[in-house]
Amino acid sequence: MKSSRWETWCAVAVLAVSVCTGCNSPSGSESAHSAKGVSQQFDGQPPLSIVCTTQQVADAVRNIAGEHAEVEALMGPGVDPHLFRTKPSVILQLQQADIIFYNGLHLEGKIADTLEQLSSRKPVVPLTGRLVADHDSRLLSPTGFSGVHDPHVWHDVSLWADCVDYAAEQLCEFDPQRADDYRANASAYRKQLDELDAEVRAQLETIPQEQRLLVTAHDAFSYFSAAYGLKTIGLKGISTDDEADFAHLDAVRKILVDNRVPAVFVESSTSPRLVNKLIEECQSAGHEVRLGEELYSDAMGGAGSGAEEYVGMIQANVSAIVDGLAGEQQP
Ligand SMILES: [Zn+2]
Repeated sequence: MKSSRWETWCAVAVLAVSVCTGCNSPSGSESAHSAKGVSQQFDGQPPLSIVCTTQQVADAVRNIAGEHAEVEALMGPGVDPHLFRTKPSVILQLQQADIIFYNGLHLEGKIADTLEQLSSRKPVVPLTGRLVADHDSRLLSPTGFSGVHDPHVWHDVSLWADCVDYAAEQLCEFDPQRADDYRANASAYRKQLDELDAEVRAQLETIPQEQRLLVTAHDAFSYFSAAYGLKTIGLKGISTDDEADFAHLDAVRKILVDNRVPAVFVESSTSPRLVNKLIEECQSAGHEVRLGEELYSDAMGGAGSGAEEYVGMIQANVSAIVDGLAGEQQP
């Protein structure tokens, strides 16, 4: 791993410790919140006002809360959560919420301090809280950074389903009067996610073994690849904040050319610049690589895209990956 990626990760690791005063865990505030649980209870009139960071977190909470809450996402389609910063309107929205849900694992790194401060006044729940508290063996860490976890857990449907269950438990604790409804909603949604997980697995099995290489702009698909039997390479690290590493880009070009990999992918929330450069370099080396359909990595789609809900987003990604990789290899 090159020094620029090392430096970025050292900075992330320092942040992870520094945002959590008195916490010995390198995973920082996520552990503190998950261990603390929800200590307050809702004493107002429904609908509850729930604010979530990303669209995927909001979609999970909407499915659990049903008619009992108004759920808003701070980040819309195409917004990069690694780079998202607070502004006065965001702070106001967070202050007015009854309860806040976020992804955790430092996905929302630039608003970590704000979430930490709010947690002394209201429940602020990371969906990945129990994974961290349990030291879940499915959590991935980039090579050389043990204890700092890859945040992109939602791309493994089964892992995400466990995060949704955790969110449901936390909402039940916060609002016990409506807990029966939340449990019933969560159970019905869990069935949908289990079916989705099986569907994803079946579709990806149609990709020939040697073509199961997913090259994307940043390293958001490690959980996806680990769960569904692909290899993944990001042109940047697991944060879009990482610097591009041109020696790494050259190594990826060689892998694509040597294995005649048919397609590479850009993401809806990151710049296509590096991926386009890679395609040009493969062309110069005599290998035509197609640009696959845009993948939804860190943000879901806009209204009418078919990817504005989690299930549709995963289906759109799988369809794009199968279309790109399952076809004939380029000569
Ligand atoms: Zn990301």
